[in-house]
Amino acid sequence: MSEKSKAELLKEELYMTKKNAYETMSQEEIKECYDYCEDYKMFLDKCKTERESVEFAVKYLEERGFKSFEYGKEYKTGDKFYLNNRGKAIYIVVMGKRPLEEGVRIAAAHVDSPRIDLKQNPLYEDGGFAFFKTHYYGGIKKFQWVTIPLAIHGVIVKANGEKVNVCIGEDDSDPVFYITDILPHLGKDQASKNLGSAFNGEQLNILCGSRPYEDEKVKDIKLNILSILKEKYDITEADFLSSELCVVPSIKARDLGFDRSLIAAYGHDDRVCAYPILTACADSCEKDLPTYTTVTIFADKEETGSDGNTGMQSFAFEDMLKEMCENAQQNVRKMFSNSICLSADVNACFDPNFSEVYESRNTAYINKGVCVTKFTGGGGKSSTNDAHAEFVAFIRKLFDDNGVVWQTGELGKVDQGGGGTVAKFISKLNADVIDVGVPVISMHAPCEVVSKTDVWAAYKAFLCFFK
Ligand code: MN
Ligand code: MN
Repeated sequence: MSEKSKAELLKEELYMTKKNAYETMSQEEIKECYDYCEDYKMFLDKCKTERESVEFAVKYLEERGFKSFEYGKEYKTGDKFYLNNRGKAIYIVVMGKRPLEEGVRIAAAHVDSPRIDLKQNPLYEDGGFAFFKTHYYGGIKKFQWVTIPLAIHGVIVKANGEKVNVCIGEDDSDPVFYITDILPHLGKDQASKNLGSAFNGEQLNILCGSRPYEDEKVKDIKLNILSILKEKYDITEADFLSSELCVVPSIKARDLGFDRSLIAAYGHDDRVCAYPILTACADSCEKDLPTYTTVTIFADKEETGSDGNTGMQSFAFEDMLKEMCENAQQNVRKMFSNSICLSADVNACFDPNFSEVYESRNTAYINKGVCVTKFTGGGGKSSTNDAHAEFVAFIRKLFDDNGVVWQTGELGKVDQGGGGTVAKFISKLNADVIDVGVPVISMHAPCEVVSKTDVWAAYKAFLCFFK
């Protein structure tokens, strides 16, 4: 081997190079990563809504000795508990070795994903079909949701409080649901519209039947659907008023590509961060306790602005920590001021087919690890938590010291658009916050794509943060 030239050595010293994860991982670690992603795919298939994700978390935590949070109780080092906020958000705590006043370590992901909700008076008959009226949830590109198989997940709460769980369209023997589109032969007018106006919200009606009720006098398709629902769920039309029924793609998480290096699934945003923070939380207290108390959050309503009492703008989370501090005679303000948080949410992954919307030097790439995002927002850095350089330096060192494959990225080109996360709401509590998450291809589409090594890098990042 010839000696390196002065310029070559200088380049190594001065240039920043971010390697592909496969260049840094051993064969054993790649196997561990792929095995971990098998469990992640199972989580994706079980958890398509926030309710299902919280239910999964509760079961997962109880199997590992976590208890339900109690008001008025003084929690001590080693205690593990969770607050289930109305079945839609959950705050999970492991009491660390250091007192609360020295700060807690928070990782917050959201478990709601863009989808299509049923309206409160959804069922009607038209043109020989039965349909459900819908109201979409979150930022969807409407044209992506037509002509694909759909499933319905959610709850119907009867006036007497009885709750009926609904999950139909997932089992291979289940029927699926569908949104129609114009055939290309008659699509002249539609094809001349732009993508944003070619489909409107009131056209996203869910096709759910076509067979009339069998009766001599009444040939009613809607009545037939209602009688099936009465038999299956024991509900009447009025029960839709107090229901939350979510229409999601009826697809299972699948390996993508000959090399199985990618995962195609619904709802990576943001379950691809939720699963790693949950497993990192449990694994970080398996053998030894974490130094600082850890708080793991599954938030709801992120896709619609974090409003509502299960969203991150609610006082529910803050109140829980206040309660913990009061009962332990600790100053809650001091606790928040010493706390640090990873807002665990996805970023856009560079897509060479649409390179025009990305700025190649400041974007996240596939297989280059978990993405650290200093700020989100839009325009001139508006509406964002912009992490301080001091905190970014701390995170750099933490990830480098723990062999985390990581990169940085902005959400696309300046003035191309923008987006937000829960980071700015948690920063209001006076904690230091930064966004850390997995790069996603085709974010918010019914089927999104991530890389297995990036999921693994996220898990490792959250694990070392908690430890
Ligand atoms: Mn998100
Ligand atoms: Mn999103």
